[in-house]
Amino acid sequence: MRYEVADQFDYALNCHCSNCRRTTGSAFKPFAGIARDKLRVTRGGDHLMIYGDELAHNAHCRVCGSLLYSVVRQGAFVHVAMGTLTEDPSIRPSAHIFVGSKATWFEIADGLPQYVGHVTEREPGG
Ligand SMILES: [Zn+2]
Repeated sequence: MRYEVADQFDYALNCHCSNCRRTTGSAFKPFAGIARDKLRVTRGGDHLMIYGDELAHNAHCRVCGSLLYSVVRQGAFVHVAMGTLTEDPSIRPSAHIFVGSKATWFEIADGLPQYVGHVTEREPGG
């Protein structure tokens, strides 16, 4: 399936929480946050596989299983899994969050700021 999202992300972060590690099968999840109404599914909407409820869920493609985005912040925002973007976004991840739950086998090798949990209460991870 396909989605379109405006290249107007408000923030981008690398999340090391156990949820993000599990859903991506990776050391961390790079995601970019944007108002939910700036993303729309353009093709194959019937292939959406939703884990969670209307205001907080992970949206996967039922065909390939990919995690595409998460609906967060009481349904107002989406966190787009940056690995599913097919074009280069303007934004870059600015920090590592939930480093407190980082995989022990992974070492952060860049100079970005690291936060034990959230950056702020307004920009929750995941
Ligand atoms: Zn997370």
